[in-house]
Amino acid sequence: MKIKDIFKMGEEKAWEQFVAIRFADNNGEAYCPACGCVEPYFITTRRKWKCRGCHKQFSVTSGTIFASCKLDFTDILAAIALFVNAAKGISALQMARDLDVQHKTAWVMCHKLREAMGMGSDDVMLSGDVEIDGCHVGGHVRPENRKEDRKDRRLSENKDADRRVVIALRERQGRTLTFVEKTEAAGVQHALARVEPNSVMHADEAAHWDTLHAYYTTTRINHSEQYSDGYACTNQVESYFSRLRRMIRGQHHHVSPQHLHQYSTEAGWREDTRRMDNKALWEKLTGAALMAPVSRSWAGYWQRGAA
Ligand SMILES: [Zn+2]
Repeated sequence: MKIKDIFKMGEEKAWEQFVAIRFADNNGEAYCPACGCVEPYFITTRRKWKCRGCHKQFSVTSGTIFASCKLDFTDILAAIALFVNAAKGISALQMARDLDVQHKTAWVMCHKLREAMGMGSDDVMLSGDVEIDGCHVGGHVRPENRKEDRKDRRLSENKDADRRVVIALRERQGRTLTFVEKTEAAGVQHALARVEPNSVMHADEAAHWDTLHAYYTTTRINHSEQYSDGYACTNQVESYFSRLRRMIRGQHHHVSPQHLHQYSTEAGWREDTRRMDNKALWEKLTGAALMAPVSRSWAGYWQRGAA
């Protein structure tokens, strides 16, 4: 979707787009999100409906992550287009400039869209050939310049508290699931929980993956010797990590451990949808955002003066 086309359509058409996508499961006809009643009154002047059953009023964004977002519909649709068109991710600063909104508004919007990208992946199971690996992100204990101030970085008290490992499970030709942990070894439990028993796991030579052999047919690749023998490799999970690294380095520079899982999810979504065109991506993300139940972590954020 082109930004130009979104602004050309104007608020009325943008709102109609929202309605069509939000109520797609009822042929684009509004229904009450509270009780499901399908014949609400439309209050034209307020672009709202009133339910005949439970008498509650609702708008096209009620119950979605955009509830009480004060941005224009064109701005929201444009934000989604900017977000999906940026293959390496987009910083809140950049989005704020492009949309001419406050930095904080753009920052919340970006996080909400990342949340929408992760919706529905909680009960996804992987099968077939599945690669696993971990990647250290963030944290840095700066060596001091003067010798007497130098810290022993091997000591645990000097290890940076911000350092995390992103663990990725990637089904070949399928989905990518990501987890943020303090150690790579924690990935074993995620594999056991999310990879079907009859799958083949592919991992590198790190000792903690040895456990996988007890549960799955497992191949190993020793990266100090070679990167692939054609079958035993972790190339697909590696390309996920290079996307994540490029995203963090190129756009965000620093990611706090608190938000790392959202950036990991975003990189996974982008990797898994890399062959879709921009319009299809825009529709996919808009649909996910409007189907999404009200954001738990971000609920109420707009009201706190963000818009
Ligand atoms: Zn109702």
